[in-house]
Amino acid sequence: HDSQVQDDDSSSVRVAVRARPLIQKEIAENSKECVFYSKDRKQVVLGKGRRFTFDHVFSPVISQEDVYNECVKPLVESCCAGYNATVLAYGQTGSGKTFTMGCGNKSSSLEEELGVLPRAIRQLFKIVEERSHETEFLVKCAFVEIYNDEIKDLLHPDTPPKAISIREDANGDIILAGVREEEVTNFKSMIRFLEYGSVFRTTGSTLMNQHSSRSHAIFTIIVEQRSILECASRNDVITAKFHLVDLAGSERVKRTGAVGMRFKESVTINCGLLALGNVISALGDERKRCQHVPYRESKLTRMLQDSLGGNSRTCMIACISTADTDLEETLNTLKYANRAR
Ligand code: ADP
Ligand code: MG
Repeated sequence: HDSQVQDDDSSSVRVAVRARPLIQKEIAENSKECVFYSKDRKQVVLGKGRRFTFDHVFSPVISQEDVYNECVKPLVESCCAGYNATVLAYGQTGSGKTFTMGCGNKSSSLEEELGVLPRAIRQLFKIVEERSHETEFLVKCAFVEIYNDEIKDLLHPDTPPKAISIREDANGDIILAGVREEEVTNFKSMIRFLEYGSVFRTTGSTLMNQHSSRSHAIFTIIVEQRSILECASRNDVITAKFHLVDLAGSERVKRTGAVGMRFKESVTINCGLLALGNVISALGDERKRCQHVPYRESKLTRMLQDSLGGNSRTCMIACISTADTDLEETLNTLKYANRAR
């Protein structure tokens, strides 16, 4: 492993905030923008003077390409160097998580609208090709969702969630027993799996958003590589995982008017997000990192355990709405993201 990939900053967790523009409905309802940005792309100001600092702050004019280049491209590169990586989109329903990740079920044909996932997949296969004279790659993918604390294999929807369990092997690697990975050799076939799985994502409707997603969706790219140079040992296989996570909406239960079954969902979802916040916060705190990182508090953090912290790199993209009508949730998101720093 070359250590240079890790050298550019001391912390393995980076936090970005991305604000989306007002949507048609908000403009029609005369909503106003209530978020402001510093020129250096590091600070965001909410309303009258609540200021937060992050590794990256993307105002609504920042393109999908810029978000990808600044937050995710380095993670794809480090994954190809053998390090695990995770990128997570956090935020209330309607804040732009799925738009940012690019894992909606219709593939956008517009180049500038492509989200993180297709860009990452494209770059991965570019690297695979560039290094084909010296390295043999085996690329696989898996796509699962965590819904009501159950794991569902989105690429094999007939697999019962009870047949899936999270295990840790002797090396500390996390294995999703029962989830079947698919081998892929090119961009198109991986995109096809992404689209196939997206169709099976469980969605429920709440007062807030008909299509609001109540589940965490995790697309995982597995990169195995082996040197084919004369001098190298043929049996040394390096494996790295890259998790791309579209988290469930972070909005509070009250706001969406959820009751009964939906209320129960919100409780487990918030439990996963809470656990994630605790893990990321512990990773960012040198003292806590040495003692105890509470991965076991939820399926989400347990599943991501070997790809958060340690040698792996993580980027959380906190998505926010700029509308004054969403100010309260935006404040919650900024506080959550601020704690993750
Ligand atoms: P979420 O997944 O967080 O619920 P979506 O990604 O579905 O939110 O975004 C909600 C709406 O806002 C969609 O219509 C989406 O196209 C639009 N949107 C989100 N982010 C942006 C952006 N940066 N630029 C333009 N439109 C956006
Ligand atoms: Mg979504």
